[in-house]
Amino acid sequence: MDKKRRPLLAANWKMYKTLSEMEKYLSSFLGLVAGIDDRDIMLAPNYTCLNRMVELLNGSNVKVAAQNMFYQDEGAFTGEISPKMLLDMGINTVIVGHSERRHIFHEDDELINQKIRSAISHEMKPIFCIGETLEEREAGKTSRVLEYQIRLGLKGLQNKDVPKIVVAYEPVWAIGTGKTASLEQIQEAHRLVRDMVGELAGEDIAEKLRILYGGSVKPANVKDIMSLDDVDGALVGGASLEPESFAKIVRFEEN
Ligand code: PEP
Repeated sequence: MDKKRRPLLAANWKMYKTLSEMEKYLSSFLGLVAGIDDRDIMLAPNYTCLNRMVELLNGSNVKVAAQNMFYQDEGAFTGEISPKMLLDMGINTVIVGHSERRHIFHEDDELINQKIRSAISHEMKPIFCIGETLEEREAGKTSRVLEYQIRLGLKGLQNKDVPKIVVAYEPVWAIGTGKTASLEQIQEAHRLVRDMVGELAGEDIAEKLRILYGGSVKPANVKDIMSLDDVDGALVGGASLEPESFAKIVRFEEN
């Protein structure tokens, strides 16, 4: 499948897997994706697995990302982890603004913007998650919500930094629910996001931006989703927890 931008398939393991479960996963996953070099493959495990995973993936075609970070380098921020600490481990990609961070841990657009700016100033790549709730979609507010999240998320960034970000469009009602957005809904939202970024930063820059889809992606639907013009990859939760299933997603394979 020819894509305009290099595809990125990223696994968000959320709060799953111990160290030994992670090692067992990698011992099978690495073989299943060996030799794939035309797309980026990334795993975002919990913090306790990060360091060991970096060691185990050294020299492979699979990269490591963190699921979250704070925006300061150090200080009295109990329970937080900083960009400096992630970089020290060799990790330069971080998921920012996941809907579970927004809704369970009350992160707002301003905090998310600070994290994005911090990531960029540290030469890290943020995977910036946006998406509407079911209530917002049913009230016809999807485009307004996405525009608001994009405007605030990218506030203060220079245009040249925008393509360093990866946007993940994840309709909240499709995350972990088994409900995938329809192909029309996905393409429409991705086009909207690209057009908005085009208005803010210029069309050339928007054309370079990778926009991932997230929300109940699985082997059965990945090929159709990846065939959409403005979809450049996927952020995958539940279906990334088994190596066989995530490897099929990486390959855009149903079976
Ligand atoms: C996610 O956690 O970002 C996600 C998309 O989860 P799931 O694939 O389980 O819907």
